[in-house]
Amino acid sequence: MTDIVVVFDFDRTLIDGDSDRWVVTEMGLSDLFHQLRSTLPWNSLMDRMMKELHSRGKTAEDIAECLKKTPLNPRTAAAIKSAYALGCNLMILSDANQFFIEKILEHHGLSGCFSKIYTNPTFVDEEGRLRIFPYHDSTLSPHGCSRCPTNLCKGLVLDQIRAPVPERGRQSFIYLGDGSGDYCPTLKLRDSDYVMPRKNYPLWNRILSDRASVKAQVHEWSNGEELERILLHLINRISSE
Ligand SMILES: [Mg+2]
Ligand SMILES: [Zn+2]
Repeated sequence: MTDIVVVFDFDRTLIDGDSDRWVVTEMGLSDLFHQLRSTLPWNSLMDRMMKELHSRGKTAEDIAECLKKTPLNPRTAAAIKSAYALGCNLMILSDANQFFIEKILEHHGLSGCFSKIYTNPTFVDEEGRLRIFPYHDSTLSPHGCSRCPTNLCKGLVLDQIRAPVPERGRQSFIYLGDGSGDYCPTLKLRDSDYVMPRKNYPLWNRILSDRASVKAQVHEWSNGEELERILLHLINRISSE
């Protein structure tokens, strides 16, 4: 029996769009966001945006309400529930943040399907401001990967997810992603693993530009319907091997 670990990127993979950009646009932060875009790393910029919302009197609850309206394809939600029901171990590995991801999953009744969410941590401080922090503390433990932003190396996290598995059997990963940050973990996948890049997005382009570097089998998808069909097909295939 093979353990199947399904790892989802979040923005533009699990949800159709980008949660950070959704909040920035919907909550009227576009001008300030573009002003500061070149001066701060993305992660710090989003923390700064949350400070701005707080100064405008917006609460964490207001942000949660905004996140509930983020489009999530119903077929993607169905695929997640089916994969969970089939006994897969589902995880999220995302450069968004804990608050955004948890609020969206809760709203769609998907929280219980995931055993772990690896992302930038958050908390609401005593003044009610949402704070967003880097996943890796770059001053204490630089991850040393030149492919990834300093706050998160998804490849390093993937290695850590794989490491503690006992010798009780085979383990296959199915990794779903779209962005350039998903390329590092894709290179860590083995020939018994699968990568599902979103077609015509940066990860897909990177894989195609150097096909020999990726050991995992590649199965592209374009929308929730294809994601569901291909993911469940792969799970069935691995299960019956
Ligand atoms: Mg993404
Ligand atoms: Zn990396």
